[in-house]
Amino acid sequence: MTDIQLPTHARVVVIGGGVIGCSVAYHLGHMGFSDVVLLERHRLTAGTTWHSAGLMVTFGSTSETSTEFRKYTRDLYSRLEAETGQATGFRPVGFIEIATEKDRLEEYRRLTAFNRHCGVDVHEISAKEVGDLFPLARTDDILAGFYVKGDGRVDPVDVTMALAKGAKMKGVKIFEGVGVTGILEKDGVVKGVKTPHGDIQAEVVVNCGGAWGRELGAQAGVTVPLQAAEHYYLITDNIPGISRSWPVIEDPASYGYFREEGGGMMIGLFEPVCAPWKVEGMPNDFAFGEIKPDWDRMGEYIETAMKRVPISMEIGVRKLFCGPESFTPDLRPCLGEAPELKNYFVAAGLNSIGILTGGGVGRMLAHWIKHGRSDVDVTAFHIDRLHPYQTNPEYRRTRTVESLGMVYKCHYPTHSMTTARGAKKSAFHDRLAARGAYFRDVSGWEGADWYTPDASPPVIGPLSWGRQSWFPYWQAEHEATRNGVILMDMSFMSKWYVQGRDAGKVLNYISANNVDGDTGLITYTQWLNEGGTLEADLTVTKLASKFMVVASDTALRHVDTWMRRHTPEDAHCFVTDVTSGLAQLNVQGPRSRELMQSITTADLSNEAFPFRHAREIDIGYARVLLVRITYLGELGYELYIPTEQATHVYDILVEAGVKFGLRHAGLKALASLRMEKAYRDYGHDIDNTDSVLEVGLGFAVDLKKPGGFIGKEAVVAKKAEGPLRKKLVQVFLTDPEPLLFHAEILYRNGNAVGYLRAASYGHTLGGAVGLAMVDGEPGRAIDEAWIKEGVWEVDIAGRKVGATISLKPMYDPANARIKA
Ligand SMILES: Cc1cc2nc3c(=O)[nH]c(=O)nc-3n(C[C@H](O)[C@H](O)[C@H](O)COP(=O)(O)OP(=O)(O)OC[C@H]3O[C@@H](n4cnc5c(N)ncnc54)[C@H](O)[C@@H]3O)c2cc1C
Repeated sequence: MTDIQLPTHARVVVIGGGVIGCSVAYHLGHMGFSDVVLLERHRLTAGTTWHSAGLMVTFGSTSETSTEFRKYTRDLYSRLEAETGQATGFRPVGFIEIATEKDRLEEYRRLTAFNRHCGVDVHEISAKEVGDLFPLARTDDILAGFYVKGDGRVDPVDVTMALAKGAKMKGVKIFEGVGVTGILEKDGVVKGVKTPHGDIQAEVVVNCGGAWGRELGAQAGVTVPLQAAEHYYLITDNIPGISRSWPVIEDPASYGYFREEGGGMMIGLFEPVCAPWKVEGMPNDFAFGEIKPDWDRMGEYIETAMKRVPISMEIGVRKLFCGPESFTPDLRPCLGEAPELKNYFVAAGLNSIGILTGGGVGRMLAHWIKHGRSDVDVTAFHIDRLHPYQTNPEYRRTRTVESLGMVYKCHYPTHSMTTARGAKKSAFHDRLAARGAYFRDVSGWEGADWYTPDASPPVIGPLSWGRQSWFPYWQAEHEATRNGVILMDMSFMSKWYVQGRDAGKVLNYISANNVDGDTGLITYTQWLNEGGTLEADLTVTKLASKFMVVASDTALRHVDTWMRRHTPEDAHCFVTDVTSGLAQLNVQGPRSRELMQSITTADLSNEAFPFRHAREIDIGYARVLLVRITYLGELGYELYIPTEQATHVYDILVEAGVKFGLRHAGLKALASLRMEKAYRDYGHDIDNTDSVLEVGLGFAVDLKKPGGFIGKEAVVAKKAEGPLRKKLVQVFLTDPEPLLFHAEILYRNGNAVGYLRAASYGHTLGGAVGLAMVDGEPGRAIDEAWIKEGVWEVDIAGRKVGATISLKPMYDPANARIKA
């Protein structure tokens, strides 16, 4: 072992010298952290980075955050050489996405509108223009191309070296040949790293271990559910006439992307069914390594891809390259502070876009480390959305097969992953299945999405951008909620008991609303950070001896961590996750009281049991916590039932329900009902960058309660700024035909002012409905007058459709129905 002198202390230790680790170190350096150490156990780029194809593409994501990552990364790579003197190989030769199928055309047109709104200069071009730009491509079957002139390619090794050099220029110390063998930790806080060359004490540790990141995380008890998969490209012998200045073309329907490489052509592949690599564990000595290619498995995909550039079928193959790249269960990276260990950050699981997002990922993470929170929406990327069971070998082996293939599938909005299913089932699952439920993956739970009306087995597909076969079933469930009574299994909701003498005090300081009022009351509240932006959106119910906190399925680990980290050490307050212990059924609709009253001796009259009240009641042999609350906009109840009594209560309800026309309703109905009422959903239409006032939830903030709350000063300061110039509004299409999903652009008087963060179909309102954050004009508040003065339209795949806008819920703005 060579004698490497490591510092004994550093403010931040970054583990891993791939593009991500070097980018994090570079940005920390630029943000003023001089005391940063990067440790790479082999040499820089030795993991996955060295063999990347180097595509630098900004087009292609419906996530604003991911698009910002891409744009920032491209800009960074184009200026890094001037800053560091180290070339990056960035060549803006252009990029073309090809559509050969009707549904992909729809997808890319929708994407184009969104990406243009986000500042990506993408244009639709004809098949002939594709041929003009890449003359060797077959174009007779192309419906359109989507061209970004400023995109192109980089040299991944050079880019990483330039980032490393830029980091060093800012004082970051980089050590190669130093592997991290363990993590120092005390009381749930990271304290440094262990290496064969000695320990380094550190305030912050960042796991940028790439495909090794899962095992690196496990050393510290941190869950990083990523899995390496075989990932391929092929390089042909020289092709006469091919040019280095031609754009990169991508044809997902043929599983391939194509660009010039060393006088030949590179054909990169994303096969629909991939092969996970080393599920049992990654080899630690794999540096600048290659995986022996599996010609038998890849043969048919290579053949299909080659047809896009027919000359490739006549030219010899110089190399079929296979290397490991890490994929995650939902194709989104694992970013941010680990819920298990404070000050331990992760930036791994890049799903084959680590080069083209690396700059943005590094910047965001460095900002998070410096300021304590992210400045972009991370709800979809936060590592705390993932769960320990997803690191199980069987889960990884199964799900990863689908993940890589999803990259090149048409991304239908109603798609649900089909592998690694059945991991979590509510107590009602088999009964719901017998009723014709179509289940989708809800944070690993089998969530009933809709039901066949005759309990026949559901048939999904073909997927489309239009109305699908189950549209009328969904409509019927929606209408039954508005006019009769429905039952909905919501057992996947995250639930906690918070107990102890100080429980009320602790929760009240975390909550923006007053949640420590009368016993037996449920309170809707947000949890804010010091900046006044949202960390959580949930309810707190004050019961006789405890509090019950309920949040959405995706929020489980974030809310859990936030509560634990904001409970003072000396507080008599104990948080218990009771998600598994309590099944949840929602009984909602104008006839829900009648139904519930028919199965309990408790008095449920409006006088005895008003809106927002909670009480334990009898149903059969069970004790059930009944809460009168709604997320659907009707008179309704949530039933929290001990799991072992869940089916007993369900059977009683269903039997009694016959008389009242009780219908089962799924999550599609939940989405459409709540959207008509403009109820928010954290991670979908509101996120960590939003101020509670801008999303219209100021009514749930209690600025007067004694003791204040986290984020109060920021809310007060925001109020003092005067009328808001950014607001979340409800959007309704006046034409009942088109559908809205997400990311459609909203226009006011011909100017783009925002996009649909989430949308559904309002079966009662009679058209598509969604929520959009709109930016107003300088010096002008967003109010009723500003809305009225506008002519509003939404761009749907290039077609403008008229819309109406509202600050108040379009359905039952006076809340008359829920209080009836
Ligand atoms: C065939 C192929 C083509 C690709 N093409 C593209 C493309 O065109 N565009 C694009 O954007 N992306 C592409 N990618 C993906 C991209 O290469 C990766 O997303 C990216 O390189 C990941 O970078 P990383 O820093 O996370 O991981 P890595 O580059 O693997 O870096 C992780 C580093 O951590 C080190 N490490 C691990 N454990 C320890 C430890 N205990 N102590 C110290 N060091 C440790 C490893 O040695 C390694 O060097 C491609 C990938 C493949 C396989």
